[in-house]
Amino acid sequence: MSYDADVLIAGGGLVGGTLALALTSAGLDVILIDPAPEAGGAGFDGRSSALALTSQRLLKALGVWARLADDAQPILQIKVTDGRAGEAPSPFALEFDHAEIEEGPMGYMAENRHLRFAIASTVAESPVRAIAAGVTAQSTDGAGVSANLADGRRLRGRVLIGCDGRDSGTARRAGIRHVGWRYLQSALICAVRHERPHGGVAHQFFMPEGPLAILPLTGNRSSIVWSQPHAQAARVMALDEAGYLAALRPRFGGFLGEIALEGERYTYPLSLSLAQHFVAPRVALAGDAAHVVHPIAGQGLNAGLKDVAALAQVLAEARRRGEDVGAPDVLARYQTWRRFDVTALAVATDAFNRLFSNDNPLLRFGRDIGMGLVNALPGARRGAIREAAGLTGDLPRLLQGRPL
Ligand SMILES: Cc1cc2nc3c(=O)[nH]c(=O)nc-3n(C[C@H](O)[C@H](O)[C@H](O)COP(=O)(O)OP(=O)(O)OC[C@H]3O[C@@H](n4cnc5c(N)ncnc54)[C@H](O)[C@@H]3O)c2cc1C
Repeated sequence: MSYDADVLIAGGGLVGGTLALALTSAGLDVILIDPAPEAGGAGFDGRSSALALTSQRLLKALGVWARLADDAQPILQIKVTDGRAGEAPSPFALEFDHAEIEEGPMGYMAENRHLRFAIASTVAESPVRAIAAGVTAQSTDGAGVSANLADGRRLRGRVLIGCDGRDSGTARRAGIRHVGWRYLQSALICAVRHERPHGGVAHQFFMPEGPLAILPLTGNRSSIVWSQPHAQAARVMALDEAGYLAALRPRFGGFLGEIALEGERYTYPLSLSLAQHFVAPRVALAGDAAHVVHPIAGQGLNAGLKDVAALAQVLAEARRRGEDVGAPDVLARYQTWRRFDVTALAVATDAFNRLFSNDNPLLRFGRDIGMGLVNALPGARRGAIREAAGLTGDLPRLLQGRPL
């Protein structure tokens, strides 16, 4: 039986591109398929990502970080505050400082265009074979999987990995269903330039209508993720630039001085979606194709990169042992490793959003006391910092900064 590659990857976004690099670093032969391969590097479109410390280690191990480091802003502190627009924040706040853990910054903020460019240019210089076409159909048999492409080609591999995002065709064609729901919120996304330096501090303000995250970018700039009920988000989005800033200012406060918009603004309807299975015969899912969570903790991409590290390790070890990398028991190891962790993340982000996105005085009192308590207990604080840095749980080798 002949194969075009060991592994076919459908979807060359941030997760698919990184997975292709991880697998080739372990000697696997990979074809990366995407109808709209993004080179990145163009003008700033306003979108950015939070990368946990462990995600940075992964990018470093794969040779991506060297191309990104100059454009990444270390997150040195996280401040969490309960508030209402136009009012002084609650005195009960949480402060997490990177100096409380030995490993370094809790994470980094990077503009997506720089991240895409760093991954795409590393892929271009790697043995990964990239094809600009969409996967339109797939079929499996005992020995492998075939993928039909929109340009008429048909490719055969031992396993097909769906990294094709939240509306994954790979999952649908494999009969994998998702469970979840739509939130009554949309996230408004933009970047602002401000007068005063942010000092590497990330802020999370919990407002009754939804959380507002202000995340430090390089220079005097911050990325904004502002969750609002749909109708309110649509109203703010429809405003011109001055109106948008006028709506943002009372929530943002004056601590960074005057603010101005930079790049474009976006709005995303928020949802939670979990694949019932992460694998099917000769198929595995990673990234948003497997799970979409509320952006409240900035963990969506980090969870996808953890899938990458776990799946690459499982397949690399299988290859070293002479196993078929698409065999059901090999893919089952990946599912066992990741599914519980991802479900726990989805439940935690959902509960957090429900607890904080309301104005019930009793809940407000309870969460303020809870935040005050966590802040007063160094052990609890360190635990939360390690969680934000991605240092908890059963870490795959690449997230420990070790080669596969
Ligand atoms: C508002 C918001 C804020 C967020 N903030 C953060 C944050 O701060 N930190 C964080 O870690 N995460 C964050 N996330 C989550 C993060 O953006 C996603 O988890 C991440 O982009 C998912 O990457 P992906 O590669 O899995 O999917 P995608 O980026 O969706 O990529 C999917 C790829 O598949 C390709 N594709 C589609 N169909 C086919 C096909 N038929 N054949 C082949 N290829 C196909 C597409 O062209 C695309 O390139 C946020 C998400 C939202 C909505």
